[in-house]
Amino acid sequence: MTEHTNTLLGIFPRKIEELKRNGLYRSFVSFSHLAADQGHAVHDTDRIQVWCSNDYLGLSQHPEIIRAQLDSTVKHGTGSGGSRNIAGTSAAHVELERRLAAWHGKERALVFSSGYVANFETLSTVISAIPDIVVFSDAKNHRSLIEGILRTRCAKHIFPHNDLDDLERALAEHDHDRPKLIVFESIYSMDGDVSRVSAICDLADRYNALTFVDETHAVGSRGPTGAGVCEEAGETRPTFVQGVFSKAFGTVGGYVAGPDGALDYVRSHAPGFIFTTSLPHSSLDATIRSLELVQNGDALRRALADNVRYLKQALSAAGIGFLDADSHLVPVLVPGAERIRHVARVLLEEHGVYVTPINYPSVPKGAERFRITVPPFRTPEQIDDFVAALRKSLDS
Ligand SMILES: *Cc1c(COP(=O)(O)O)cnc(C)c1O
Repeated sequence: MTEHTNTLLGIFPRKIEELKRNGLYRSFVSFSHLAADQGHAVHDTDRIQVWCSNDYLGLSQHPEIIRAQLDSTVKHGTGSGGSRNIAGTSAAHVELERRLAAWHGKERALVFSSGYVANFETLSTVISAIPDIVVFSDAKNHRSLIEGILRTRCAKHIFPHNDLDDLERALAEHDHDRPKLIVFESIYSMDGDVSRVSAICDLADRYNALTFVDETHAVGSRGPTGAGVCEEAGETRPTFVQGVFSKAFGTVGGYVAGPDGALDYVRSHAPGFIFTTSLPHSSLDATIRSLELVQNGDALRRALADNVRYLKQALSAAGIGFLDADSHLVPVLVPGAERIRHVARVLLEEHGVYVTPINYPSVPKGAERFRITVPPFRTPEQIDDFVAALRKSLDS
């Protein structure tokens, strides 16, 4: 390397030092989750408990889903063989997209490699195709939504989180006929709060706007067949509904359901849909089995809700404050980047319990938190032990 390139690369260690000085350097803790010992993982050589997984229903270790993936792997192999355009569209892609569209009551669905890619690619492609569109985006939207919007340099208005008065004022400032798109989530993961999907759809109707709702945290956990908050609210109006397989479904991938023409256009134009290898047949066969379990998952959803209620009572009894939101997500605030790291370390080292500290920029500085999840397999005894360990660690 020349002196010049060495100087250039010197930028990075300096930037890393700056992150460390500001307490923002991220370290990853490695685990191997154990399918036969749900909620546990091996960390170094220790068996520990994981209390922050996004596997909300515990389905990533469900024997029937594991079996579906194994059988399909034996039959079809481990890779997909190409992009969707080049021999990478399997029968499972076609079948899953058909089922997802029907589940959400939409004309078409497209499966992407992840929820992030689904949001980014669909938003950036749809927005770019509509001249002069204005986008209205909730201030707490997920990074994948924000990046998809920013990619296009479109006109935009960021409305304060769930502030529909502000949203309405902003919508009213534009010509009725100017194209508009409202982008929001149904459940926000950091606070666990739920948006008023029908009130947002009313505004969309009144001001002639399209809507895009990210149901990442709600598919699987909400609605009579698990199709999300819109299904629970009997709301069919959102133009686009996005969901993921990587959370309650326990597999991997993301999707968008919506109007046939728009998604056919996305299929033909979105670079992150076209120029990438598709998900393997076996992974999608596992997802199809997972979808069936989710659709008939009333008992799972009830068990999740029971555990959430039990956890909240136990936290209250132990004098531990939490955000009491109307969802399965239970944020426990532990303000201060150093402080929460300390509590997490004590939990892991002295109690064998792992929860990830959530820091800036995912949440504002001073609003650091743990995000506790209690899948159906958790027992009241395990929840009691967890809360006792958390109490002791907070007191340390
Ligand atoms: C996790 C998440 C995504 C991204 O999904 P992945 O499949 O993990 O890429 C999108 N939106 C929201 C709100 C999320 O929390």
